[in-house]
Amino acid sequence: MFKKARVKLTVWYCIIIMLISGLFSVVIYRGVTAELESRFRFIEVGLGTRGFTPPQPQKIPPFFEEHLRVTKRRVLIMLLYINGAILVVSTAAGYFLAGKTLKPIEETLEQQNRFIADASHELRTPLAALKASIEVALRDKKIKKKEALDVLESNLEDVDSLNTLTNDLLCLSRYEQGHNDLIFEQVNVAEVIESAYKKIKALAKKKDIKVEIIAEDAYLEADKEALRKLFLILLDNAVKYTPVKGTVLVTAKSEKKYVFVEVKDTGIGIDQENIQHIFERFYRVDQSRSKTNIPGFGLGLSMVKEIVELHRGSINVTSILNKGTTFIIEIPIKHS
Ligand code: ADP
Repeated sequence: MFKKARVKLTVWYCIIIMLISGLFSVVIYRGVTAELESRFRFIEVGLGTRGFTPPQPQKIPPFFEEHLRVTKRRVLIMLLYINGAILVVSTAAGYFLAGKTLKPIEETLEQQNRFIADASHELRTPLAALKASIEVALRDKKIKKKEALDVLESNLEDVDSLNTLTNDLLCLSRYEQGHNDLIFEQVNVAEVIESAYKKIKALAKKKDIKVEIIAEDAYLEADKEALRKLFLILLDNAVKYTPVKGTVLVTAKSEKKYVFVEVKDTGIGIDQENIQHIFERFYRVDQSRSKTNIPGFGLGLSMVKEIVELHRGSINVTSILNKGTTFIIEIPIKHS
């Protein structure tokens, strides 16, 4: 598809360049031939003056007319050669430029297609499980109330999971579209971290994970909801990927023109091969290690990255396998 579009664009570039070049050639040809004709007439007039006949505009004699014809033809051939060369150069340059112009569009489209394919795949799996369990329950004529309730409970879990996925997808696409609907206001980072912590407190307690927060009151221009989501994802991951009785340490401070937040855990860690991919959409490290046991769709860190970028900040991660992971976020205090 893009090959065709590239060729089409090249043809359009060439048509435009050749039209301009052709127009110039006509003007040049006319100008040069007019000049030549007037010169030949001048020669004729000059000769006439030498023989004491009164100077007056003459018809060009056959001898000069032949010269004029040859010269005109040479000019024409030269212009044709020049136009040919321009056509060759403009085709090559046009093809190169068309490729450059279409590259970002091609990449965006490819990314979108991959995203749609991944999203459909992730949606299809729980839907298939849901359908299968409902069908099995419906076929069982002697199903007991307790069994039916178990099926419904499991279905509800699948629906919840689908709900999370669709919400994450909506959030991610919203963040990817830019910051049109974000509201930047003065936000206290310590408060936002605390409110994110409240949401994962139960899970941390369940796993007996100690979460320590050392956050000074640091204000920055940010979208409160987006920032809360960012810390919620990081804290949730830290707890999710840390085995029981581990610790999670969150520190926040402002320094010069930035707010720095560090989320450090004593969890399973990420190896060097995978660490470079964790911010990609739907990327989950080693399925046997996490995907089957720990819930998630691999969208959290993509959202984190988008949110950080919308706040003109940066995020870094360091990790040692089986020792722990540290995410460091740096966001400018002033957004504009
Ligand atoms: P999800 O947690 O839903 O799988 P994320 O995008 O949040 O998706 O994370 C991508 C992957 O990065 C996770 O699947 C996990 O393997 C890895 N990861 C993220 N945070 C941590 C962490 N704190 N410790 C270890 N691995 C992590």
